Amino acid sequence: MLKLPERVRVSLGTLEVLGLAPRVSRYPVGVAYILMDAERCWGTCKYCPLSRTSKAPEGMLSRVFWPPKLTEEVLEALAKSPVKRVCLQTVIKKGYFEEALALTEAFRGAGKKVSISIMPLQKRELMRLVDAGADYVGVGVDAASERVAREVGRPGPWVAYWAFISDIAEVLGEGRAIAHIIVGLGETFEELVAALLKVRELGGRTSLFAYTPVRGTPLARVRGPPPISYYRLAQVTAYLIEEGHHPSEFLFVDGRGWGIKDEFATEEVVAKAVLTRGCPGCNRPYYNERPGREPFNFPSPSAVREYLRRLVDEVKGARVPRAQPP
Ligand code: SF4
Repeated sequence: MLKLPERVRVSLGTLEVLGLAPRVSRYPVGVAYILMDAERCWGTCKYCPLSRTSKAPEGMLSRVFWPPKLTEEVLEALAKSPVKRVCLQTVIKKGYFEEALALTEAFRGAGKKVSISIMPLQKRELMRLVDAGADYVGVGVDAASERVAREVGRPGPWVAYWAFISDIAEVLGEGRAIAHIIVGLGETFEELVAALLKVRELGGRTSLFAYTPVRGTPLARVRGPPPISYYRLAQVTAYLIEEGHHPSEFLFVDGRGWGIKDEFATEEVVAKAVLTRGCPGCNRPYYNERPGREPFNFPSPSAVREYLRRLVDEVKGARVPRAQPP
């Protein structure tokens, strides 16, 4: 018999949508974001505030604080809420797989679709999660290359992430493995493009995050967020690859580095490329961004409108240096 945890952590935006906190956010969450409760994750990722290497306050993920709530209270609120999908973020701790199964079943019981973000699993474990109700699986690839994964302390063998993406695509179908990739962890643009191509080749889709330094994490002492121009280039590249274009069609290189050809830097492309992408409805407002500043990922098309001109100019002017000089 699977046992539900007493508590889970819930993002502030999710509390608003569940009616458990007053609505103050301009952009409501499109998915209910729920995090497993744990003092620390056993992982050693140097950028993650949940990691056992971190001294950040408990319950932080990226720049978002996730207050703890009674699981029963959350399930009740979920059942009454209009939100269609739950995203369960797991942490590595004792019994986390069984807890993930129990929560997935409970969310399905509350009438919700379930996305789960979890470390690579064996195929038979993946099948159990799918039987419990998960129909999309997020894979925290995070680092765009094996070199970066080693540098930032990502747990497990690098190949396991890719094997997992391929298994998910096989079990759930193309486009249902969502590879989370963090831009700005120290990768070269070439490494990033190779990772984006690999995700597509394996039948997955990419969800991009901007590296967000959080005080108390080891990496925040040495690395700042990525330049916005680099992030825009990454977003347009990810979007166009997902649309079936090869980088040789839309990238060029000059003395300043890699850029996007003007004919691809259109309002139509840019407006779609800068949206948060991932599972249906996923928009993660304020996950990487501070209210009032130009967002890295935009939570809705209406949020893009006021910035669109500037975004197109940013994309046209963006250059990322080549890793290797010609
Ligand atoms: S894309 Fe969004 S909803 Fe899907 S697993 Fe990732 S964070 Fe969760």
